[in-house]
Amino acid sequence: MEDCIFCKIIKKEIPSNIVYESDEIIAFRDVNPVAPIHILVIPKKHLNSVLDLNPEDEMLVGKIYMVINKIAKQEGIDKSGFRIVVNCGEDGGQEVKHLHFHIIGGKKLGTKIC
Ligand code: AMP
Ligand code: ZN
Repeated sequence: MEDCIFCKIIKKEIPSNIVYESDEIIAFRDVNPVAPIHILVIPKKHLNSVLDLNPEDEMLVGKIYMVINKIAKQEGIDKSGFRIVVNCGEDGGQEVKHLHFHIIGGKKLGTKIC
């Protein structure tokens, strides 16, 4: 996707603070963090949202959760806890149309999710 900002991050066309990278997945710090730890985990394959997932992507989603597991430990928020957020579409408040998983932690988060 030519005009996708996250695809540009994947291609290193724009800078980012990368915390994890494999052939299929990349994770980087959110440029506008809402908590001390705010990291985005994304597939390198461009998918607009969860709605673009197909059965062949099952392994990829599992791998993304394993990356989240690894990063939580790496960032030292495994004991204190954190939140995983995946926004989808207009009502979900999705701004960047490339599937991404927010890892948010490092402080006591609010109890509300909406
Ligand atoms: P969402 O509202 O779920 O689409 O979240 C998009 C997130 O991407 C927001 O938290 C933004 O702060 C973040 N973001 C946008 N551009 C960049 C960028 N160039 N580098 C890092 N994070 C970004
Ligand atoms: Zn993209």
